[in-house]
Amino acid sequence: MIPFLDLTHVNKPHQLAIQAAAERVIASGWYILGREVETFERQFANYCQTKHCIGVANGLDALTLVLKAWDFPAGSEVIIASNAYIASVLSITHAGLTPVFVEPDPQTYLLDPAKIEPAITGKTKAILPVHLYGRCCDMGPINSLAQRYQLKVLEDAAQAHGATYAGKQAGNLGDAAGWSFYPSKNLGALGDAGAITTNDDALAEQLRAWRNYGSAQKYITDYRGHNSRLDELQAAILSAKLQYLDRENSRRRTIASFYLEGIRNTDILLPPADQLDQDVWHLFVIRHPRRDNLRTYLRDRGIGTDVHYPIPPHHQKAYESYAHLSLPISEQLHKEVLSLPLNPALTDTDVAYIIDAINKF
Ligand SMILES: *Cc1c(COP(=O)(O)O)cnc(C)c1O
Repeated sequence: MIPFLDLTHVNKPHQLAIQAAAERVIASGWYILGREVETFERQFANYCQTKHCIGVANGLDALTLVLKAWDFPAGSEVIIASNAYIASVLSITHAGLTPVFVEPDPQTYLLDPAKIEPAITGKTKAILPVHLYGRCCDMGPINSLAQRYQLKVLEDAAQAHGATYAGKQAGNLGDAAGWSFYPSKNLGALGDAGAITTNDDALAEQLRAWRNYGSAQKYITDYRGHNSRLDELQAAILSAKLQYLDRENSRRRTIASFYLEGIRNTDILLPPADQLDQDVWHLFVIRHPRRDNLRTYLRDRGIGTDVHYPIPPHHQKAYESYAHLSLPISEQLHKEVLSLPLNPALTDTDVAYIIDAINKF
């Protein structure tokens, strides 16, 4: 049996470091916004090469808080790829803004810079590139357009811990970035956790207050803020795991290259391989016209898979006012994509077995 993802196995090599981190926090008697959060924020900002990192409760909050802090007029438009993860879309509507869906690049499945300009209106205020599956969006042209039209750029980096674009780290490619450390991410906590990275001093200061009721100073409230704090326990665990992130991403790349070289089934469309070393392979997503049959076939051979994602945002009940949109590239993607197991706990033997099974389908 090869499960799609077994977090027991993923966290096993770090068990001692995680236990030491947890014991340190328990013994400290200080559980919210203390030294562990400060330390992790400094380490992660350093890792992303940004001036600031602000720990928050989860990835959705990270994105929502930035969009709220920018304080655009209600109903302002944010451009996003139509195959984005639902949390990225939720952040836009939670901030009182309107998502404008554009079709993804059919090769990379990422926000297509060529489709942004036609979608810009007088109400457009921001672009939200999601670095889906671990590969950075094409930020050069995205940032040029943002500059020309005076739009903010919010990276959704929740699947891209350690990814790079033109030599720069994900999280340092726009005006701000939202991160999730949900347990299954490349850098995963043992619970919910998130962060924002930015080089904007004023934004960072505001967000530090906003995550804590709007108070920079205890009992002094400058904003009607939120409670979205990263806790000490998760911060300590994240610091312990951060030191292994590059090594684990490199193992992910090795597995991805095995799949890319080994899979010979001509009905399968492989993911783009032109940025093997910049991509952090959060997911290895193939396409097959009979995806559900392939999935059942693999399950019968003990191989777990997943689908990211089965339903596009504009076909979700929560966004039924967008149901009339015709977005054929996304709609076809959602029918054909299949995520193969890819995580640092997978052995070479596992990968060879999966490749062999796929080639015999
Ligand atoms: C996981 C994820 C989020 C949301 O993160 P949470 O911590 O679960 O709120 C947002 N965007 C993307 C692309 C994600 O993968």
